[in-house]
Amino acid sequence: MSRGRILIVDDAAENLRVAHDLLKAEGYTVLTAMRGEVALNAAAANPAPDLVLLDVRLPGMDGYEICRRLKADPTTRDIPVMFLSAGGDMADKVEGFRAGGVDYVTKPFQVEEVLARVATHLALSRQRREIVALSALKDQLIRTISHDLKNPLTIVLGNAEYLLTTRAPLSDDEARTMIAGIQKRGQEMLRLVTDLLDLSRIEEGMPLRLQAVDLEPLLLAQAMRAEAFARAAGVELKVEPPPAPVTVLADPERIGQVVQNLVSNAIKYTPAGGRVTLAARADGRYGALSVRDTGLGIPPEAIPELFKPFYRVPAAGQRKTEGTGLGLSIVKAIVDQHRGDVDVESEPGAGSTFTVRLPSTSA
Ligand code: ADP
Repeated sequence: MSRGRILIVDDAAENLRVAHDLLKAEGYTVLTAMRGEVALNAAAANPAPDLVLLDVRLPGMDGYEICRRLKADPTTRDIPVMFLSAGGDMADKVEGFRAGGVDYVTKPFQVEEVLARVATHLALSRQRREIVALSALKDQLIRTISHDLKNPLTIVLGNAEYLLTTRAPLSDDEARTMIAGIQKRGQEMLRLVTDLLDLSRIEEGMPLRLQAVDLEPLLLAQAMRAEAFARAAGVELKVEPPPAPVTVLADPERIGQVVQNLVSNAIKYTPAGGRVTLAARADGRYGALSVRDTGLGIPPEAIPELFKPFYRVPAAGQRKTEGTGLGLSIVKAIVDQHRGDVDVESEPGAGSTFTVRLPSTSA
């Protein structure tokens, strides 16, 4: 895999060749340009370079001007520019930084030094991108959480207000319905807050109590817990006994939570008359558990989104069921912490199978 894309701009073919070979040998993907216009086009292309190494003295548009133009264009503004130049007095360097460069190296240069600076600027720019993405994610989470809490809160407050202020005589049944509405919305909000706390604790790296876990009894215990819910939904729930015991290295409580979330989804998204089957099998150095349902299925375009926080499939039928959109994010966070993996196969209208693989004790 490439360590990054670097665009080198220099009008001397020999300089370009040396820099190209040097960076390529270090595992970078290298693009070259000898003139300003070509460099600007290469920087605006997709995929964009991660760093530009820019000579200052070029015929036509000089390096400072190229840099200023890169910084003025929103599509290329964030690409770090490092000047490599024979002219190295203080005024040149200051002009380079003024034009928006992040570094200035004078020729002849030490190869090791240039490579170290390139690696540093690439790392800084990667971290900057990560910070921007995390900040956008945080804003989105705050928006979603506020929205998901606001709806039930409005109902809780509306019902309470009505009960407190109405002058019309209320029958016991009417009062009970209003109070039941408050309770139901309260439970919804509590579930959201509990899921959020779980997710953040797991992502912070809550320690795992790893031990050998036999999957069949774990699946049976979770099936028993979900039995009443399945019966109420008219869904048959069963555990397929594995031909031989499957033992994984896991925290039984956390994996119980994984199975609980998958089984509860399978029941929620399977219409009455359907079936949910739990199974376990050995899979090389892993033990796999699966939760298979004959339910609504998931459209292919939704699959890459499923494990992201708050994602819910927008299709009709899916939305009617209640949920926080956090269940599968919790599943993924727990499985990642175990160094396992989770995937899903699904056919809309026919059903879905979620499979979790965990390191086996014999690995
Ligand atoms: P939710 O609280 O909405 O169930 P999850 O994170 O557990 O949140 O699941 C995300 C979305 O994935 C669900 O809203 C649903 O649209 C879809 N989904 C999850 N499991 C299944 C399943 N077994 N069958 C069909 N759709 C599913």
